[in-house]
Amino acid sequence: MSMNISEERIIVFRVGWMKHYQGMKGDTIRSAARFVIDEKYGYEMYNFLPYEGYMYGFVQPSGAGNFTERTIRIERLGAAKKDESIENVLVAWVAPLTNKGVFLVGWYSNAIVYRKYQTPPKGAGRVFKDVEIGYYVKARESDCILLPEEERTLTVPKAKNQMGGLGQSLVWYADSGQTNDRLFRRDLLTFIELYEHQRLENELNETRFTMHRFVEGAPRRVTSTTYERNRKARDICINYYGARCSVCGFDFLDFYGKIGKDYIQVHHVKPLSDVGQEYEIDPLQDLRPVCPNCHAMIHRRNPPYTIEEIKAFIQKRGS
Ligand SMILES: [Zn+2]
Ligand SMILES: [Zn+2]
Repeated sequence: MSMNISEERIIVFRVGWMKHYQGMKGDTIRSAARFVIDEKYGYEMYNFLPYEGYMYGFVQPSGAGNFTERTIRIERLGAAKKDESIENVLVAWVAPLTNKGVFLVGWYSNAIVYRKYQTPPKGAGRVFKDVEIGYYVKARESDCILLPEEERTLTVPKAKNQMGGLGQSLVWYADSGQTNDRLFRRDLLTFIELYEHQRLENELNETRFTMHRFVEGAPRRVTSTTYERNRKARDICINYYGARCSVCGFDFLDFYGKIGKDYIQVHHVKPLSDVGQEYEIDPLQDLRPVCPNCHAMIHRRNPPYTIEEIKAFIQKRGS
């Protein structure tokens, strides 16, 4: 999947605002939808409840009649009229927060979007008050991100007309080519790229202290194979380049003595050009040891400065 703004298959689904989307227990749905107000629950309540490695998401397509009989117009994502589903779609979940606007709450990458309502797999726990809660979209759990509430900062433009923006409809194809559509596509992809990059670098740079905490507090992360792969990549990078800054040469052991031994951060050089795709780090090509100061300067811009650019800034100052 490329990060091409106009070519990326993107669909925006508007749902009620929840904290976890793992059921109604301990959570609330904030929504203006008639159904949610009347019934005190919504079919989106399980949108981030994984089952056997997959996430199943619901949105209410527009149209008349029973909402489980409505369809998503997947031909607008490039599917043929006869197709029942389409793959490799980036699904952006957005939700309104009272009076404040509509915000990105999470996404599924590499998702399958179905034309018709799908009944949930048996045993998935997608039942509420004896009602089966179905879905229209499915994605691998590892390709799905739900933002914590404080990180839901990307707003969705309001529609001035039926084109270019999320209006009354709960499904927005963002394919008109008009300004709102193009800007949102760009902002969305930039946001996701930056988020995935930070997540990767956080994983690369967790200290021993936080790793220890993970062992005790959150076993899910430790058993994750990507996590272990990232730790290995970090070690290979540092063994090769040494535990000193690739920009300014700072060496923590030299400067601080033995408490600085082995301390260094790792910067991921290659911008993630693929969202959510299974991606293997090349520790020597893609990673460089950097000190926290230089690392902060590298990320003063998005896309980040190169190591050479930061070196040049230092040289310019010194001359
Ligand atoms: Zn440095
Ligand atoms: Zn970095």
